[in-house]
Amino acid sequence: MPITPLMPVYPRCGVRPVRGEGVYLYGEQGERYLDFAAGIAVNALGHGHPHLVKAIAEQAATLMHVSNLYGSPQGEALAQRIIDVSFADTLFFTNSGVEAIECAIKTARRYHYVNGNPERHKLITFKNAFHGRSIGAISATDQPKMRDGFEPLLPGFDYVPFNDLAGALAKIDGETAGFLVETIQGEGGMTAGTPEFIQGLRKACDEHGLLLILDEIQCGYGRTGKMWAYEHYGIEPDIMTVAKGIGAGFPLGACLATEEAAKGMVFGTHGSTYGGNPLAMAAGMAVLDVMLEADFLPQVERMGERLRAAFEQLIPNHDHLFEEIRGKGLMLGIKMKEPAVSRDFVAHLRDNHGLLTVAAGENVFRVLPPLIIDESHIADCIERLSAGARSFAGTSDD
Ligand SMILES: *Cc1c(COP(=O)(O)O)cnc(C)c1O
Repeated sequence: MPITPLMPVYPRCGVRPVRGEGVYLYGEQGERYLDFAAGIAVNALGHGHPHLVKAIAEQAATLMHVSNLYGSPQGEALAQRIIDVSFADTLFFTNSGVEAIECAIKTARRYHYVNGNPERHKLITFKNAFHGRSIGAISATDQPKMRDGFEPLLPGFDYVPFNDLAGALAKIDGETAGFLVETIQGEGGMTAGTPEFIQGLRKACDEHGLLLILDEIQCGYGRTGKMWAYEHYGIEPDIMTVAKGIGAGFPLGACLATEEAAKGMVFGTHGSTYGGNPLAMAAGMAVLDVMLEADFLPQVERMGERLRAAFEQLIPNHDHLFEEIRGKGLMLGIKMKEPAVSRDFVAHLRDNHGLLTVAAGENVFRVLPPLIIDESHIADCIERLSAGARSFAGTSDD
């Protein structure tokens, strides 16, 4: 077999979407799927949201791209709006999550460098973490499936079990720059940081002059029913990466920072040709227009509670299959009982029940619907999921 035109790094399945409408996707033959994967937490406004579509179309016709050598009224306006609803004083726009991670690592290293402590370059990161696929980002995870064959990786990372505060504190030494952590682990298995853990990391940063970098690429931007996942913990980071929902399908990310944490990022230290171009900014603005409407986030929170409650009702009927519910808001995961079946179950729901979900680590399947879902979508999901659980049990039992 010759190599495929698309480099074969993904095990692509038989779903081949050509059109989307709200919470539904349509395949080449018109097959209809309930999309509770949302491009892996990206399509926050579902598919074809009229306000987002119009903003992109109008901006494309007006001005798509200019260099970052010029002033950016579009970028300034979106940055200010994000800053106004976050801990941050400044931000750098990227085209993806992993580029925001790169910017965060560079910002943290430069901070200690300009403070006269260039030896403080190491970040403490966590097992099962996922920060993206650049050399920097795979260096920041201990997962062999992402690292194998790419060594030598970037030095300067220590790995500690997630939610192990004592272990993280024990790793701090004279070379530590800070912590890089997902407030809620996504790919790793939808595990939320415990309050003691996240708050403990914050406290350690304050005591030792370290930087707390939160990776909210998946859990931020409204996903949990609050604008940022850190709001559930009553703390604020020094640096934070966001992407996925920020453009709701348009490639966009950002690295946010406090003025203090960003103090090393001066002229010439970083850049991106496309980052924050007018087209991306129009998409980002349109997303916030919708997300910052008074009832949007409360509705996400309500739908998250409904969906979780519906899962809680479902589990006892299939307790040989499902073990527990994880996550927050509309970032939910169900851990399965039989070892290593989450991938098969995701495929079964997709192929036999038209329900799109995503597998994650630790035998969990992720439910990441668009943030615009209502009761009818939850009812549709539960109907497909219960049917899927019945038929899956039928095929896999004894
Ligand atoms: C998706 C994701 C990334 C990487 O984002 P890309 O846009 O794929 O580069 C990084 N961190 C987390 C937590 C993610 O979920």
